Parts: sequence; structure tokens; C-alpha cells
Amino acid sequence: MKILVLNSGSSSIKFKLFEDQVAIASGLVEKIGNNQSKIELKNAKTGTKLRRDTYIADHEKGLKLINELFQESGILHDLNDIDGCGHRIVHGGKNLTEHCLVDDFVLAEIDRVSAIAPLHNPAHLAGIKTMIKAAPKVPNVTVFDTAFHKTLPDYAYMYALPYDYYAEYNIRKYGFHGTSHSYVSAKAAEILGKNHNEFNAISAHLGNGASVCAIENGKSIDTSMGFTPLEGLMMGTRCGDIDPATMPFIAKARNLNPDELDAVMNKQSGLYGVCGFNDFRDIIDEIQNGNDLARLALDMYCYRLAKYIGSYFAILPHTDALIFTAGIGENASIVRKLTCERLKHLGFEIDTEKNDNANGETLISTPNSKVKIFIIPTDEELQIAKITENIISKK
Ligand code: ADP
Repeated sequence: MKILVLNSGSSSIKFKLFEDQVAIASGLVEKIGNNQSKIELKNAKTGTKLRRDTYIADHEKGLKLINELFQESGILHDLNDIDGCGHRIVHGGKNLTEHCLVDDFVLAEIDRVSAIAPLHNPAHLAGIKTMIKAAPKVPNVTVFDTAFHKTLPDYAYMYALPYDYYAEYNIRKYGFHGTSHSYVSAKAAEILGKNHNEFNAISAHLGNGASVCAIENGKSIDTSMGFTPLEGLMMGTRCGDIDPATMPFIAKARNLNPDELDAVMNKQSGLYGVCGFNDFRDIIDEIQNGNDLARLALDMYCYRLAKYIGSYFAILPHTDALIFTAGIGENASIVRKLTCERLKHLGFEIDTEKNDNANGETLISTPNSKVKIFIIPTDEELQIAKITENIISKK
């Protein structure tokens, strides 16, 4: 089966084409609507790349170019020849809790939820509509970041705000990165020869956005992101948990409106806000150059991460594994080391040599560690392709 996976952002489209669950091509359309827009396609078999620097006005033009580069590279005769298209959707809201085939209801719901996911859902919708237009016979499947967290109990997803806000606006914790948390936890269970339905884990997805998830019997029971992807851990440019009262204070002190406050919390905070760098590679370099704010950012990051892992260890009846994944989780050995060292008394014992030399999927705990500690590279696109294949096979 040939499955195309699309991750449509406001000015980009990430795409990956799978044949029988093996990636055969991938690429990126960037800076849509900007004079510097471009598209690049990489053939996974040959490693050859095709690139075009051209004005790409909108998502429709972007998808047209993806099709043209597929044809030019000989990878695909036409978009209509694929068996299905899987779309990554950040927010499914309260009604879209299962990955599903796209229909009018699904389109209307994604649109409705745009009010609480304005940076993501409108772009996802544009991607789906463009695909329907370009290849009308190809079934489209939506895969929601929020779906894995549908099992959160009410006492975990409710905020202690007036109940009306939940009743009227559905303000509650939704959680994100579900595709990744479910993929890496299933993989860890498989490595340990355990059934995912009987497996308890804490997974830490640490990319530009970052979240931790508590998984009991293969199901999400709590997660650090909330109503939006802002809550929880300190991230690249997002503040994560803060005292909510700081925001009205800052609004008054700096005369900022709600949109400006939103930008402070989402774009000017986190690692970047503390030390001026949001890429961990730069932060590690800066620490070596003696930059004390970079040291502070690293210490804050690991301390807060350890607190979340510790709290999830407390609510799980037992923990089989801790999993690190995504750009920082997979590559920044110092983050794994500093975080696990704080958790040693709970039975998380990291093998520093294995941790320093890890490459790809690796068990990095000592044989005596009560909790197995893994690095498991995430593959959200593969997971979306598998889910898409599964759903269209049942059609
Ligand atoms: P996202 O998909 O959320 O954009 P990624 O999962 O690709 O993010 O993670 C991106 C982050 O991973 C970068 O900001 C960088 O800080 C970190 N990262 C990537 N490679 C390394 C590395 N070799 N060492 C340390 N950090 C890394």
C-alpha cells in the first residue's frame, strides 16, 4: 500500500511517502506565501534530492509541486495512485477522539476547534481540502495528537476553574504528542517482550515542543501539556508551567493585550527566554564557553523534567520504563544524565557510558535499575502511515 503522510503547518507542508510501511520519499515545502518559498524532495532509496526555489502562494500550489516532484523523480506517476493520505492533526477537541476517515463532520469539527488551536488546525484543514481537490478518489484519514489522551480520567483533565468554563467552552486538559507517546511506549513494551496493554511507562517527548506522559496498561492517564501545547515542561520558546497570576501582572506592567501575552508565553520564553538560545546544541556550546545563563537554562530544564517524571512515578502503581524521545531526548545525553541523576533514589539508574555512547534505540539503564531507561527514536509519520493503512483497510 502507498500512503502519503502530510503535516501541514501555517507556512509549510512536511510530507513522507510510504510503500508497505517503508519510507520511499520525504520532503518539505517551506515558507508558503513568502518570496523565499521552496520545496525539497528526497528519494529515500537513492538519496537523491530535487529542489525548487519558486514562489509558492498557498497549500494548493505546494501540493501541486509535491506531485510534480514525485513525477519528475519517478517515485509516483500521480497523487491519485496512492492508496490513502494520513493527515497529522494537532487538536481534535472533545468530539474527535478517534483517528478516522475524513467526512463533512470531521472537517467541520477541525474547523470549530481552530478557535483553540489557531496556529495548527486552520493549516491542517487547508491541507486536507487541498488533498481532496487534487486527488478526489484517495481516502483521507485524520490522526489526532490528542486522541491517545482520551483515556485521561476526569480528575486529571479538569482544571480547578469555575465548572462553567468547562461546560461552556470545553476548557480542560487535552494533551498532545499522543502519536509519539503511543508509538515509543509500544516499542519499549515490544523490546521488553511485554504486552502493551499490560505495560506502564513514562515517556518524555523532548523536541522544540516537549511533553511527558504517564502510561498505565498502555493507556495515557496523565500528560504535561494541557488545553494547548503551552502547559507543562519548559520548552524551546514556551514557558510551560508558571504561576498564572504573573500574566495579568505583566499585562498591566507592560501594557500588553492577550495576543501579546500569548506571544510572550509561546515565542519569547522557555530556553530562549532564559538564555537567548533555543537549540540545545547551541546551549551546550554556550555552557562550554562559560555562559552562565545557558547553564541556568539547562538546570531549569532538567529539574522541571525530573519533577514531572517523579510525579508520574508517584501516580503510577509501578513503572516499567522511562523513555526519552525526539530531538533533545534522543540526542542530548547531558539532559538524560542530569534528569535521571535526580531520580536515582526512586530506582532510575542510568549507565553513564551507555548514555554517552548511545546511538538510536538504546537501553541506557544499569542492570540493577528498577526502571528500565530507554532512548527510542520517535517516528510519528510511520505511526500515522500505519494508522491510515489500518483505517482504510477496514473501509
Ligand atoms: P520538533 O519536531 O518539535 O520541531 P525535534 O524533535 O526535531 O523538534 O527536536 C528539535 C530540537 O532537538 C532542537 O531544537 C535541538 O535543540 C535538539 N537537538 C537536535 N539534535 C541535537 C543534538 N545532536 N544534540 C542536542 N540537541 C539536539
